[in-house]
Parts: sequence; C-alpha cells; structure tokens
Amino acid sequence: MKNERSLVYFLIFSCFLLMSCSQKMESTSFTAMNTYMTVKTYGKNAKSAAAANQLVKQEVERLEKIFSTTIEDSEVYRINNSVPDNNGFSTISVMPETTYLIEKSLELYKLTNGAFNPALYPVIKEWGFTTGDYKIPSKEKISQLLEFSDFSKIEISEKLMSAPPLDSILKADHDKALSSTASIITKPIGMQLDFGAIGKGFAGDRAIAVLREAGAKSGLLDFGGNIQVLGTKPDGSDWTVGIKNPWGGQPVAAVKLRDACMITSGGYERFFIGEDEKKYIHIFDSKTGRPVENDLESVTIICREGIYGDALSTSLFVMGLDKAIDFWQQRGRDFDFVIITKDRGLVYSASLENSISLLFDFDSVRLFE
Ligand code: AMP
Ligand code: MG
Repeated sequence: MKNERSLVYFLIFSCFLLMSCSQKMESTSFTAMNTYMTVKTYGKNAKSAAAANQLVKQEVERLEKIFSTTIEDSEVYRINNSVPDNNGFSTISVMPETTYLIEKSLELYKLTNGAFNPALYPVIKEWGFTTGDYKIPSKEKISQLLEFSDFSKIEISEKLMSAPPLDSILKADHDKALSSTASIITKPIGMQLDFGAIGKGFAGDRAIAVLREAGAKSGLLDFGGNIQVLGTKPDGSDWTVGIKNPWGGQPVAAVKLRDACMITSGGYERFFIGEDEKKYIHIFDSKTGRPVENDLESVTIICREGIYGDALSTSLFVMGLDKAIDFWQQRGRDFDFVIITKDRGLVYSASLENSISLLFDFDSVRLFE
C-alpha cells in the first residue's frame, strides 16, 4: 500500500517535472516609452511564447501612442494642446485607457496628498527634463507654472457608455477590474498632463493581461526599473529579481516574486548638475515645483498592481522616509517597500524578511513591522 502511494507520488512529480521542462522560454527586447524593455515568456513551444511576446510589444507600442507627451497625435498631446473656451476650460473626448488613467490618477493624487501629481508637466518642462536642455527656472516662473498644477480641477464630465469598456477589450485579472469607458473630460486652461510616473506600470498591467489572454502561465517583464512577473517560473519556484545599486555595480538585493511587480524610482535615473553644482533629479515635489531633495537614493515598491507600484515608488520618494513609512502604515501595509538612503542605509518592510537577500554591505539595515 505504502509502495503504491509512493509510486503515485513519484508519477505525479515526474509528470510535473516533465511539463515544466517542456515549457519553452522566448525573450524579446524592444524600445518603447523611452525605455529598453524585455519580455520573457514561457509557452508550450517557442512559437507560442514568441507570439505572446509580439502581442505584448504591440500593446505597449499602442499605449505609448496614446500616452506620449511628445508624439504629436497622441491623446495626451491632444489634451495638453487643447484650446480653452471663453470660460477657460477645454473639453476633450478621450479613450477608455486615458479615462482609466485619469480616474486612477485622481484617486492616487488624493491618497498621496498630492505627492503623486500628473499635472506637473509645465513645471517639469520648464526645468528642461523633456528636452534635455536643463535650466534652473526663476522662483517667479515656478510659482506661475504651479498655478496650473491643481490636478483635482480636471473632471470626467461625461462617460460615453456606448463605447466598449476597457475590460471587455482586454481582460485583466486584478482585484479591481480595469473597467472604464471612453469619456469627455474638462480641464482648466494651462493644465498639462504627464503620466511618466505611472504609464509604464499601467503598460505592465496590460502586458500581463495580454500574456494571460495568450494562454501564458509564466513570464517576466523588465520595463527599465519596472519588473512585473506572471505566475511563478515553470518549475513552480519564485522569480528572483535584483534591486539596482544606486552607486553602480552589482544589485544590492535580490527579491523573490510571484504574480507581483517590483518597481523602483531612483534619483540616479535622470538628473542634471546645475551651475550651483547641485544635483537636480527628475522626481518633483509638487508643493515647491522643484526636484526633490532628500536623503533617499531609491524607493522600490512590491505589490500586485503595476499602476499602484509605479505611482507609489514615485510618491514615496517625494514624501521622504518618515512620511513614506507613515503612509505605508496608514494604507494598512498593502504593499512592501525597500528604501535605500544616501548614507548607505537600507530600510524595508518586515514581511519581506523571507523573500529578500541582501547582497551589499549596507552601513545600516532597518526593518519596519
Ligand atoms: P518614475 O520614474 O516612475 O519615478 O517617474 C518619474 C517621472 O514622472 C518623471 O520623469 C516625470 O515625468 C514624472 N514626475 C516627476 N515628479 C512627479 C510627481 N511628483 N508626480 C507625478 N509624476 C511625476
Ligand atoms: Mg513611478
């Protein structure tokens, strides 16, 4: 009897191994959203995995054409260059994707008390971050442009229910369904949007949905600092992904993930050195209209939804260490974080304890429960 049962277990285990070994991995790289992106998908065969990767590439390129601030016929470009009426408001009809991103951004703007603010574009542009023609604007210019940055003034004035909802176009397996329809928005004169802090997270969520739709069970997206994984590796083990060393060199930590995203915002990603010899980074404080200056090198968020992780990595960077930890506690610890400080310190949420391995000699390591 005992032998029979062992044999059954052995056969099940062998089948499982055989199935996992028979999965073929295909990797595809491309550049979109100003980022070198790689998609690795396991499929029944190389052809199906490669086909799934192509679908992801197409979806990301499609989204880039909607959300780009610089492509002249993108929807965001159209919003940013719309002509206001006599009352100082412009009315624009937008696709479900843009409606969803605006709705989600309004939620996150409130949730983070404005740390996340997609209406900072006029300010960010003035500092030269869109063109690379960097400069430190005058205080007057900054205050003048900040007048346009109250994102709560944007409104979704009408939902166009005749258009198909977003989740019927592409199903996503999220706790909150990505449901939205086309809509008409109104925005005050001068307001300009930039979804640079969540666009890649959203694209990652869509990409995972595309992989699922294509029948894939296992895959990894590397969209620059944004990692999103579908399922586990084919053998059932977790994916292991590294957190970048802000000072260069090998990753400082490795984190195990399954069905999750790990998204980093770092001051080292894009910055310029001003005439005053100071470093000005691409992450902005919406209260001051200036690049954030604090004691953080990077903020990594680990959670289920890419759009949430992307918005929060930027927001917690803006908040700084103490407020970031307060925020995490107020949110009921519904995400994990790994923060690297300028004084070679590491701070992370204690629930990562079993999934993180440190690979760097930090001067201090602190865990928060
Ligand atoms: P990330 O790399 O995800 O942290 O996003 C940074 C990008 O988001 C910048 O390059 C800007 O385009 C934009 N951005 C900068 N500061 C903010 C902010 N406080 N809220 C929202 N978007 C921002
Ligand atoms: Mg972000």
